[in-house]
Amino acid sequence: MKNFIKHSFNRKTRLAWIAALLGFGLAVWFGRIDSLPQSAYQLLDPIAPITAQDRVMVVAPHQDDDVLGAGGLIQQARSAGAPVKVVWATDGNKHRLKAERESEARSAMSELGLSKDSLVFLGFRDATLQNDPNFPAILMAEIEQFKPTIVVTTLAGDHHPDHAACGEVVGELQQQFGYRAYYFLIHFTNYPQPFGSDRHSYLLPPLKLINANNTWRVLPLTKEQLIAKEKALKAYRTQLSLKNPFLKTLLWSFIRQNELFLVKE
Ligand SMILES: [Zn+2]
Repeated sequence: MKNFIKHSFNRKTRLAWIAALLGFGLAVWFGRIDSLPQSAYQLLDPIAPITAQDRVMVVAPHQDDDVLGAGGLIQQARSAGAPVKVVWATDGNKHRLKAERESEARSAMSELGLSKDSLVFLGFRDATLQNDPNFPAILMAEIEQFKPTIVVTTLAGDHHPDHAACGEVVGELQQQFGYRAYYFLIHFTNYPQPFGSDRHSYLLPPLKLINANNTWRVLPLTKEQLIAKEKALKAYRTQLSLKNPFLKTLLWSFIRQNELFLVKE
């Protein structure tokens, strides 16, 4: 009897597992699931700790990408004693808010411990980076001057053309300058999941971007770092008060237990 129960339980459990895996596989196949389950967080390795010997440059396409993608990393770099520079590529003037967004960026960075002299505004027009022949050379000059060991920017596969442009240029210059490149993602189909404010969740890579060539690493945030990141995000008042509800929800989706980077050594 005991053997029978054990046998039938095992069989049932096996069948349930097969059904669940088959269901998950079919859902992925038909594009119904775009993200890993939250439990997959434990399988992702943490990023190498930043040290005092590092020099960290964050290249943000717009004023807010800095906090969304790297608000925790900036704090950890500061704690480690590594110099940090934040470079904004565009002027954020899409809604004629250039001055406000620059001032918000300064407030946001001061929440993360950065002073004015660590901040650079390149001032390219919104949505023009991909077609501006001067952008690569101007960004290169900043890299040449600061000599970063780590450059953090948006992924070339990000769906926003300004984000893609930053990822492309940082990728093209990597070999010449020998830095490590850390890419974060902001605009991508059904990303992040769950979508919206959920500070207890983890940020995980979209299934479409998981492959043998992509090394994803997580940067866990302490409670204090998460609070400071949230305060820094709140400094971007114009972005949080835009009428576009999707954008607002997107911004809050990055207040998570971790940050996430695709690492190219
Ligand atoms: Zn952006």
